[in-house]
Amino acid sequence: RQEQYRALRGLPTRTRDGVDVSLLLNAGLLVDLPHIEETGADGVGLFRTELQFMVASSLPKTSAQEALYRSVLEAAGGKPVSFRTLDVGGDKILPYMRQEPEENPALGWRAIRLGLDRPALLRTQVRAMLRAASGRELRIMFPMVASVAEFDEARSVVERERARLETHGHRAPAQIRLGVMVEVPSLLFNLDEIARRVDFMSVGSNDLMQFLYAVDRGNARVANRFDTLDVAFLRALRQVAEVGRRHGTLVTLCGEMAARPLEAMTLVAIGYRSMSVSPAAVGPVKAALLDLDVGELRALVDPLLAAADGPTSLRAALGAYAAKR
Ligand code: PEP
Ligand code: MG
Repeated sequence: RQEQYRALRGLPTRTRDGVDVSLLLNAGLLVDLPHIEETGADGVGLFRTELQFMVASSLPKTSAQEALYRSVLEAAGGKPVSFRTLDVGGDKILPYMRQEPEENPALGWRAIRLGLDRPALLRTQVRAMLRAASGRELRIMFPMVASVAEFDEARSVVERERARLETHGHRAPAQIRLGVMVEVPSLLFNLDEIARRVDFMSVGSNDLMQFLYAVDRGNARVANRFDTLDVAFLRALRQVAEVGRRHGTLVTLCGEMAARPLEAMTLVAIGYRSMSVSPAAVGPVKAALLDLDVGELRALVDPLLAAADGPTSLRAALGAYAAKR
């Protein structure tokens, strides 16, 4: 199997009926970087910057952040990298940062909320990214954005930092692209407004599932109570892909579901053309997509998603389809 996957390394991810898909990597530490080369991934779709902060015993200095981001960009060798700003708070507590205990940490003072309320941290992080990407393309995405206003505020932090850097004589990135994670359900009802503003969107299906179904992703009792191939969830995901296509806004999905071949095939069938997965999943997902006929699978999925009296989950139908091929 491993050998088989290695043989696919240099091939583009193109389905049987000629649909091209970008397969990107989820990463977060220096040790992940050799995987870009090994897997032949098209870039890094999600770089979780909080990992550097979580393994450190004190707040990483701006220079250390900059050094890590530069290494990532160098390892990617011109392929796109989407850096996500700190997704801490809630249950991802930094030992050196004081935080009040919260009753509902997943819904608490975390991610971009913390970044906007305590902008010093966000500012230094953005500064480190801007410096690291001097003369190259820089993609930054913000986690847990729940409203258009939060994105606007985050964008102005980036603009101020860029202006500041330029007055200090630093060379700016060649291009700055800003995006949001789509993982808080309120954004599903603001898709047009958000798609118009951002350069890209990345669906965080782990959190989107958690918040849409009100199931704690860390609680084994409920985490798997609902299926990622549930009709309601797929309808929500398809909506994001459609709005992105209409606005010409790049949409990626970077949650764990994309790492499973059946789910990955389904995502392509409902309109996804870019997915970001853990390194071990690149081979299996690519193999499944190379063998996929998107038109054929769409003909199965679309009526099931439209039916008012169909199954609540498409897993059985999709599993049967995949087994038959
Ligand atoms: C997600 O929520 O799906 C996601 C990719 O981000 P994280 O798992 O880091 O919350
Ligand atoms: Mg998330």
